[in-house]
Amino acid sequence: MNDNVYRLLNDQINMEFYSAYLYLDFANYFAFEGLDGFANWYRVQAQEEHDHAMLFVQYLENNGKKIELKSIGKPDWAPTDRMEPLKKALEHEMQVTASIDRIYTAAVEAKDYRTMQVLDWFVREQGEEEKNANDMITKMKLYGADSKALYLLNNELKERTYSTPSLQLL
Ligand code: MG
Repeated sequence: MNDNVYRLLNDQINMEFYSAYLYLDFANYFAFEGLDGFANWYRVQAQEEHDHAMLFVQYLENNGKKIELKSIGKPDWAPTDRMEPLKKALEHEMQVTASIDRIYTAAVEAKDYRTMQVLDWFVREQGEEEKNANDMITKMKLYGADSKALYLLNNELKERTYSTPSLQLL
């Protein structure tokens, strides 16, 4: 495996674990606010991010590469209001998309077709993540100020359940 591709993939493990940590922080914030549906939604999101990290771990392991875990930073956001985590989530997902794209570019340059195939799944996944983050902002804008509507939205978000990622590595 090309050194640059390897280094970027190894760094991505850290970014995905940081994502899990950030979403767990959002879940904790909403749980404290009494919005258990929002808390559930972000707790499921945190589990998905953990899965993303593990997929990169598995991929490097399958290719005989050494995995170097780095420290995970404190979630970087300030709980000013209920909209803040939602905006931060979108901003964060856009950064993750940029990071996946950077690895893809490196894989193209290295003619690493196997890594490109794995990353194709992540490219699609990021489209979904950005859409979800945008939808959450839209819903909060529409319903957040009305307590009855917020109650219903919170109930809707309670329904989200965790499922394992559709990408299966060896
Ligand atoms: Mg992710």
